[in-house]
Amino acid sequence: MTWFDWLPGRRPPPPIAEALWRDALAACPLAQRLPTDERQRLRLLAARFLQRKRLYPTGIELDETQRLLIAMQACLPVLRIGFRALRGWQGVVIYPGEFKVRHRHHDGSTGVVTERDQVLTGEAWQIGPLVLSWAAVQQDLAQPWDGYNVVAHEIAHKLDMLDGPPDGVPPLPRGISRRAWIDTFQRAYDGLAHAVRRGQPAQIDTYAATNPGEYFAVVSELHFSDPTRLERAEPRVASLLRAYYGPSPAP
Ligand SMILES: [Zn+2]
Repeated sequence: MTWFDWLPGRRPPPPIAEALWRDALAACPLAQRLPTDERQRLRLLAARFLQRKRLYPTGIELDETQRLLIAMQACLPVLRIGFRALRGWQGVVIYPGEFKVRHRHHDGSTGVVTERDQVLTGEAWQIGPLVLSWAAVQQDLAQPWDGYNVVAHEIAHKLDMLDGPPDGVPPLPRGISRRAWIDTFQRAYDGLAHAVRRGQPAQIDTYAATNPGEYFAVVSELHFSDPTRLERAEPRVASLLRAYYGPSPAP
Protein backbone atom coordinates (compact mmCIF):
# COMPACT_ATOMS: atom_id res chain seq x y z
CA MET A 1 0.00 0.00 0.00
CA THR A 2 1.18 3.52 -0.71
CA TRP A 3 -0.15 6.85 0.59
CA PHE A 4 -2.01 7.15 -2.73
CA ASP A 5 -4.30 4.30 -1.77
CA TRP A 6 -5.56 6.26 1.21
CA LEU A 7 -6.60 9.37 -0.69
CA PRO A 8 -10.26 10.29 -0.12
CA GLY A 9 -12.45 8.37 -2.54
CA ARG A 10 -10.03 5.47 -2.74
CA ARG A 11 -12.16 3.11 -0.76
CA PRO A 12 -10.85 -0.39 -0.24
CA PRO A 13 -12.45 -2.71 -2.79
CA PRO A 14 -15.28 -5.00 -1.72
CA PRO A 15 -13.70 -8.34 -0.78
CA ILE A 16 -14.14 -11.34 -3.06
CA ALA A 17 -16.63 -13.80 -1.57
CA GLU A 18 -15.12 -17.07 -0.41
CA ALA A 19 -17.24 -19.36 -2.67
CA LEU A 20 -16.50 -17.24 -5.74
CA TRP A 21 -12.79 -17.21 -4.95
CA ARG A 22 -12.77 -21.00 -4.53
CA ASP A 23 -14.54 -21.51 -7.88
CA ALA A 24 -12.10 -19.23 -9.69
CA LEU A 25 -9.08 -20.78 -8.00
CA ALA A 26 -10.24 -24.26 -9.04
CA ALA A 27 -10.27 -23.06 -12.67
CA CYS A 28 -6.89 -21.31 -12.57
CA PRO A 29 -3.90 -23.61 -11.96
CA LEU A 30 -1.48 -20.65 -12.16
CA ALA A 31 -3.09 -19.06 -9.11
CA GLN A 32 -3.66 -22.39 -7.34
CA ARG A 33 0.05 -23.10 -7.34
CA LEU A 34 1.08 -19.85 -5.67
CA PRO A 35 2.29 -19.99 -2.06
CA THR A 36 -0.50 -19.14 0.41
CA ASP A 37 0.63 -15.57 1.13
CA GLU A 38 0.94 -14.72 -2.56
CA ARG A 39 -2.45 -16.28 -3.29
CA GLN A 40 -3.92 -14.02 -0.64
CA ARG A 41 -2.18 -11.04 -2.18
CA LEU A 42 -3.53 -11.99 -5.59
CA ARG A 43 -7.03 -12.07 -4.11
CA LEU A 44 -6.66 -8.49 -2.88
CA LEU A 45 -5.17 -7.31 -6.16
CA ALA A 46 -7.95 -8.98 -8.17
CA ALA A 47 -10.58 -7.31 -5.97
CA ARG A 48 -8.94 -3.98 -6.67
CA PHE A 49 -8.76 -4.77 -10.39
CA LEU A 50 -12.50 -5.43 -10.50
CA GLN A 51 -13.13 -2.20 -8.58
CA ARG A 52 -10.92 0.05 -10.73
CA LYS A 53 -11.11 -1.44 -14.22
CA ARG A 54 -14.18 -1.77 -16.41
CA LEU A 55 -14.88 -4.95 -18.31
CA TYR A 56 -16.76 -4.63 -21.58
CA PRO A 57 -17.90 -8.05 -22.77
CA THR A 58 -18.86 -7.64 -26.43
CA GLY A 59 -20.98 -10.30 -28.06
CA ILE A 60 -20.58 -12.47 -24.97
CA GLU A 61 -21.84 -12.49 -21.40
CA LEU A 62 -19.41 -13.11 -18.59
CA ASP A 63 -20.39 -14.37 -15.17
CA GLU A 64 -18.67 -13.36 -11.94
CA THR A 65 -16.23 -16.26 -12.05
CA GLN A 66 -15.14 -15.47 -15.60
CA ARG A 67 -14.63 -11.80 -14.70
CA LEU A 68 -12.59 -12.80 -11.69
CA LEU A 69 -10.50 -15.21 -13.78
CA ILE A 70 -9.54 -12.33 -16.08
CA ALA A 71 -8.72 -10.10 -13.09
CA MET A 72 -6.58 -12.79 -11.43
CA GLN A 73 -4.50 -13.41 -14.53
CA ALA A 74 -4.12 -9.69 -15.18
CA CYS A 75 -2.81 -9.20 -11.63
CA LEU A 76 -0.47 -12.18 -11.61
CA PRO A 77 2.28 -10.23 -13.44
CA VAL A 78 2.12 -7.40 -10.88
CA LEU A 79 2.20 -9.53 -7.73
CA ARG A 80 5.72 -8.30 -7.06
CA ILE A 81 5.77 -4.85 -8.65
CA GLY A 82 2.37 -3.77 -7.32
CA PHE A 83 -1.02 -2.65 -8.61
CA ARG A 84 0.21 0.81 -9.60
CA ALA A 85 1.93 -0.80 -12.59
CA LEU A 86 -1.56 -1.31 -14.05
CA ARG A 87 -2.20 2.44 -14.12
CA GLY A 88 -3.04 4.55 -17.16
CA TRP A 89 -5.87 2.47 -18.62
CA GLN A 90 -9.23 1.34 -17.49
CA GLY A 91 -11.07 -0.81 -19.98
CA VAL A 92 -10.91 -4.50 -20.81
CA VAL A 93 -12.85 -5.43 -23.96
CA ILE A 94 -13.65 -9.12 -24.21
CA TYR A 95 -14.78 -10.76 -27.44
CA PRO A 96 -16.02 -14.35 -27.58
CA GLY A 97 -13.41 -15.56 -30.08
CA GLU A 98 -10.65 -14.25 -32.29
CA PHE A 99 -11.27 -10.77 -33.60
CA LYS A 100 -10.27 -8.77 -36.59
CA VAL A 101 -8.42 -5.50 -36.19
CA ARG A 102 -7.26 -2.94 -38.66
CA HIS A 103 -3.79 -1.68 -37.92
CA ARG A 104 -2.74 1.76 -38.97
CA HIS A 105 0.85 2.57 -39.41
CA HIS A 106 1.83 6.15 -39.97
CA ASP A 107 5.17 6.55 -41.65
CA GLY A 108 6.59 9.90 -40.58
CA SER A 109 8.95 10.31 -43.54
CA THR A 110 6.49 9.57 -46.34
CA GLY A 111 3.30 10.56 -44.52
CA VAL A 112 1.74 7.27 -45.56
CA VAL A 113 -0.74 5.49 -43.33
CA THR A 114 -0.97 1.82 -44.13
CA GLU A 115 -3.72 -0.43 -42.87
CA ARG A 116 -3.80 -4.15 -42.68
CA ASP A 117 -6.29 -6.56 -41.24
CA GLN A 118 -5.14 -9.07 -38.70
CA VAL A 119 -6.88 -11.79 -36.75
CA LEU A 120 -5.87 -11.60 -33.12
CA THR A 121 -6.52 -13.22 -29.78
CA GLY A 122 -5.46 -10.20 -27.77
CA GLU A 123 -4.33 -6.64 -28.12
CA ALA A 124 -3.05 -3.85 -25.90
CA TRP A 125 -3.25 -0.23 -26.94
CA GLN A 126 -0.86 2.35 -25.61
CA ILE A 127 -3.73 4.62 -24.69
CA GLY A 128 -6.85 2.55 -24.42
CA PRO A 129 -8.17 -0.80 -23.42
CA LEU A 130 -6.84 -4.28 -23.16
CA VAL A 131 -8.60 -6.46 -25.71
CA LEU A 132 -8.97 -10.20 -25.14
CA SER A 133 -10.57 -13.19 -26.76
CA TRP A 134 -12.44 -15.23 -24.16
CA ALA A 135 -11.78 -18.38 -26.22
CA ALA A 136 -8.03 -17.75 -25.86
CA VAL A 137 -8.34 -17.03 -22.13
CA GLN A 138 -10.28 -20.25 -21.71
CA GLN A 139 -7.71 -22.25 -23.64
CA ASP A 140 -4.93 -20.89 -21.40
CA LEU A 141 -6.87 -21.93 -18.30
CA ALA A 142 -7.34 -25.43 -19.73
CA GLN A 143 -3.70 -25.73 -20.88
CA PRO A 144 -1.79 -23.58 -18.43
CA TRP A 145 1.67 -25.02 -19.11
CA ASP A 146 1.81 -24.94 -22.92
CA GLY A 147 3.88 -21.77 -23.17
CA TYR A 148 1.01 -19.46 -24.10
CA ASN A 149 -0.98 -17.03 -22.01
CA VAL A 150 -2.80 -14.23 -23.74
CA VAL A 151 -3.46 -12.21 -20.58
CA ALA A 152 0.21 -12.33 -19.51
CA HIS A 153 1.19 -11.32 -23.07
CA GLU A 154 -1.09 -8.28 -23.20
CA ILE A 155 -0.30 -7.17 -19.65
CA ALA A 156 3.41 -7.35 -20.54
CA HIS A 157 2.68 -4.87 -23.35
CA LYS A 158 0.84 -2.61 -20.91
CA LEU A 159 3.79 -2.70 -18.48
CA ASP A 160 6.19 -2.06 -21.34
CA MET A 161 4.12 0.96 -22.49
CA LEU A 162 4.16 2.68 -19.08
CA ASP A 163 7.19 4.67 -20.25
CA GLY A 164 6.35 5.14 -23.92
CA PRO A 165 6.01 3.02 -27.04
CA PRO A 166 6.73 -0.70 -26.49
CA ASP A 167 10.45 -1.43 -26.67
CA GLY A 168 10.77 -4.49 -24.43
CA VAL A 169 12.01 -2.41 -21.49
CA PRO A 170 9.33 -1.67 -18.87
CA PRO A 171 10.10 0.67 -15.97
CA LEU A 172 12.19 -1.55 -13.71
CA PRO A 173 12.06 -1.78 -9.94
CA ARG A 174 15.13 -0.97 -7.91
CA GLY A 175 17.36 -4.00 -7.81
CA ILE A 176 17.16 -4.74 -11.53
CA SER A 177 19.80 -3.01 -13.61
CA ARG A 178 18.38 -1.31 -16.70
CA ARG A 179 21.72 -1.74 -18.42
CA ALA A 180 21.74 -5.50 -17.75
CA TRP A 181 18.11 -5.79 -18.91
CA ILE A 182 18.75 -3.97 -22.19
CA ASP A 183 21.97 -5.89 -22.94
CA THR A 184 20.47 -9.29 -22.10
CA PHE A 185 17.21 -8.81 -23.97
CA GLN A 186 18.90 -7.23 -26.99
CA ARG A 187 21.34 -10.11 -27.29
CA ALA A 188 18.58 -12.71 -26.96
CA TYR A 189 16.33 -10.90 -29.42
CA ASP A 190 19.13 -10.50 -31.97
CA GLY A 191 19.98 -14.19 -31.63
CA LEU A 192 16.38 -15.22 -32.29
CA ALA A 193 15.95 -12.77 -35.19
CA HIS A 194 19.17 -14.11 -36.70
CA ALA A 195 18.01 -17.73 -36.38
CA VAL A 196 14.65 -16.85 -37.95
CA ARG A 197 16.31 -15.09 -40.89
CA ARG A 198 18.47 -18.14 -41.52
CA GLY A 199 15.56 -20.52 -41.18
CA GLN A 200 17.17 -22.23 -38.18
CA PRO A 201 15.01 -23.96 -35.55
CA ALA A 202 14.16 -21.76 -32.57
CA GLN A 203 13.17 -22.77 -29.04
CA ILE A 204 10.99 -19.70 -28.63
CA ASP A 205 7.88 -18.90 -30.69
CA THR A 206 9.28 -16.99 -33.66
CA TYR A 207 6.56 -14.36 -33.25
CA ALA A 208 8.96 -13.00 -30.61
CA ALA A 209 11.32 -12.00 -33.43
CA THR A 210 8.73 -9.45 -34.70
CA ASN A 211 10.22 -6.66 -32.56
CA PRO A 212 11.68 -6.21 -29.03
CA GLY A 213 8.22 -5.41 -27.60
CA GLU A 214 6.82 -8.71 -28.83
CA TYR A 215 9.92 -10.50 -27.59
CA PHE A 216 9.27 -9.26 -24.06
CA ALA A 217 5.58 -10.22 -24.29
CA VAL A 218 6.32 -13.73 -25.61
CA VAL A 219 9.00 -14.53 -23.01
CA SER A 220 6.63 -13.20 -20.33
CA GLU A 221 4.11 -15.84 -21.44
CA LEU A 222 6.84 -18.46 -21.14
CA HIS A 223 7.80 -17.26 -17.67
CA PHE A 224 4.28 -18.03 -16.44
CA SER A 225 3.42 -21.07 -18.50
CA ASP A 226 6.63 -22.87 -19.53
CA PRO A 227 9.61 -21.45 -17.63
CA THR A 228 11.66 -24.62 -18.20
CA ARG A 229 11.70 -23.97 -21.94
CA LEU A 230 12.70 -20.35 -21.35
CA GLU A 231 15.44 -21.37 -18.92
CA ARG A 232 16.87 -23.76 -21.51
CA ALA A 233 16.66 -21.25 -24.34
CA GLU A 234 17.64 -18.02 -22.56
CA PRO A 235 18.73 -18.52 -18.93
CA ARG A 236 19.67 -14.86 -18.44
CA VAL A 237 16.33 -13.62 -19.71
CA ALA A 238 14.61 -16.20 -17.48
CA SER A 239 16.55 -14.95 -14.47
CA LEU A 240 15.65 -11.27 -15.12
CA LEU A 241 11.99 -12.18 -15.52
CA ARG A 242 12.08 -14.05 -12.19
CA ALA A 243 13.45 -10.90 -10.57
CA TYR A 244 10.78 -8.76 -12.26
CA TYR A 245 7.65 -10.93 -11.92
CA GLY A 246 8.68 -13.14 -9.01
CA PRO A 247 9.10 -16.93 -9.24
CA SER A 248 6.92 -18.64 -11.82
CA PRO A 249 3.99 -20.61 -10.41
CA ALA A 250 4.59 -23.32 -13.03
CA PRO A 251 5.48 -26.84 -11.83
ZN1 LIG B 1 1.93 -8.74 -28.66
